[in-house]
Amino acid sequence: MNRGFSAEIRRIIVCTLVCVVFGLMNGYLTWTLIAGGAVYMAWMLWQMHRLDAWLQNSRRIQPPDASGIWGDIFDNIVRLQKRQRREKKRLQAVVKRGQEITSALRDGILLLDRQGNIDWYNAAAGHLLHLRHQDQGNPIFNYVRHPVFIQYMDKGEYTEPLDLPSPHTGDVHLQYQITRFGQGECLVLVRDVTRLHKLEQMRKDFVGNVSHELRTPLTVIRGYVETLSMSPDLPAPWERALQQMEQQGIRMTSLINDLLALSKLETDDRHNTHKPVALKPLLQRIRGDAIAFSGDHQHSFKLNCPDNLALLGNEQELQSAFSNLIFNAVKYSADGKEVSIDVEQSSLGLNVAVTDEGEGIDTVHLPRLTERFYRVDGSRQSKTGGTGLGLAIVKHVLLRHGAKLDIQSKLGKGSTFTCMFPIQSVVTEAKSA
Ligand code: ADP
Repeated sequence: MNRGFSAEIRRIIVCTLVCVVFGLMNGYLTWTLIAGGAVYMAWMLWQMHRLDAWLQNSRRIQPPDASGIWGDIFDNIVRLQKRQRREKKRLQAVVKRGQEITSALRDGILLLDRQGNIDWYNAAAGHLLHLRHQDQGNPIFNYVRHPVFIQYMDKGEYTEPLDLPSPHTGDVHLQYQITRFGQGECLVLVRDVTRLHKLEQMRKDFVGNVSHELRTPLTVIRGYVETLSMSPDLPAPWERALQQMEQQGIRMTSLINDLLALSKLETDDRHNTHKPVALKPLLQRIRGDAIAFSGDHQHSFKLNCPDNLALLGNEQELQSAFSNLIFNAVKYSADGKEVSIDVEQSSLGLNVAVTDEGEGIDTVHLPRLTERFYRVDGSRQSKTGGTGLGLAIVKHVLLRHGAKLDIQSKLGKGSTFTCMFPIQSVVTEAKSA
C-alpha cells in the first residue's frame, strides 16, 4: 500500500475515533458520526474541486498542496504530464527532422488521399508541379492534366513508372512512380528525368541515323559483289568468297532494316495512324510469304481466323509483328513441321497465337527473349540468318497497340507466341458498320 493511501486510512480512523469520543461525551453518538462523515465528504468534494480547477489550468499554475491520497494523485498527474510533454517534444523533433529530410530531397513526394486529392507534398514536388500552399486538398488532376496520366491513375496498375513532359515546362520530362499505402491512399514520387530522356533520345537518333547512313554504301557494295559474282571466268577461291560476301551483305541489310524499323517504332508518335485492319486477309498474305520463305523445307500452315474481325492499329506495324512471329516459327522448326496461326476473340480481347512444333525454348531464356540481340544459342552469327531484333520489334509494336506478348514453350515440343490485344482494339463488322 502506498504512503498517501495509508495516511488517508489513518486520518479516517483518527476522525472516526474523535467523533466516537465526542459523541459519547455529548450523548449524540449517531448524529456526531453523521456530522463527521458529512465534514469528510465536504472536504473530499473540496479536494475534487481543486483538482478540477487545476486540471483546467494545469499548464499555468502549480499543483495545489495536498496531503494523503490527494497529495499522491496530484504528484502522479504532474509526473504523467511531464512525461507526456517530453514525449510530445520528441515526436515533434522527429516530425521536424522528417520534414527537413523530405524538403532536402531532390525528388518530389506527394501524398494523395483515396479520392486523389493532395494531402501533403514536399518542396521539390511543389517546385516540379508548381504547387502552392492553397493547392493542398485539391485533386492532382488539376495540376497534371495529361490524358495518359489520368488513364494511368484510373487503371490503378503502378508496376511501371510513367514518363511525361512537365505540365509547365515543355522540355522538362517528369517520371511519376506511384505506390499504394493505407486504405487506398497513394504516395507519388516525381523525378526530373530530363537528362535521361535526352540521352535516350540521342541514342535513338544515333541508331536511326547510323542505320540510315549505312544503307547507301551497303547497297553499292552489294551491287558490285553481285556483278562480280556473275562474271563467267571467276577463279574458284573467289567464287566462294563472293558468295559469303553476298550472304553477309544480305544479313547486314536485314539488320539495318530491323534497326530502322525499331528506331521508327520508338520515335513515331503513338496511335496517330490507327485504323481498322482486317485480320484474315492480312494473315493470309503473311501465310503466303511464309510458304515462300519455307520453300523446300515444306512446312505446313494452318490458319484459323474468323472472317469479320479487324484490329484497330497500324497495318504495317501489325504485319511486321505477325510476320516476325510466323517466320520465326518456320526458322526454328524442322522441315515438314506444322505452323498454326489461331485468332480467338474473348470477353477480354483478341488473341493472335502462332504455334510451332519446333525446337522450343528453355524457360530460363523466356524473360529475356524480347531484348535486342538476345539469342538462345548466344552466338552473334546466327545460323538461321536472324538479326536478334525480331522479337524486340514485336514487343514494341504490341506496346504501341496496348497489347502484350505471352510466350509458352517446351524444349523439344514447340512454342506458342500469343499477341494479346485489349477489347478496345477489336473491331467486328457489326461494330464498324
Ligand atoms: P532472331 O532474328 O535471331 O530470330 P528474334 O528476336 O526473332 O531474333 O528471336 C530471338 C531468339 O528467340 C532467337 O534467336 C531464338 O533463339 C528464339 N526464338 C524466337 N522464336 C522462336 C521459336 N518460334 N522457337 C524457338 N526459338 C525461338
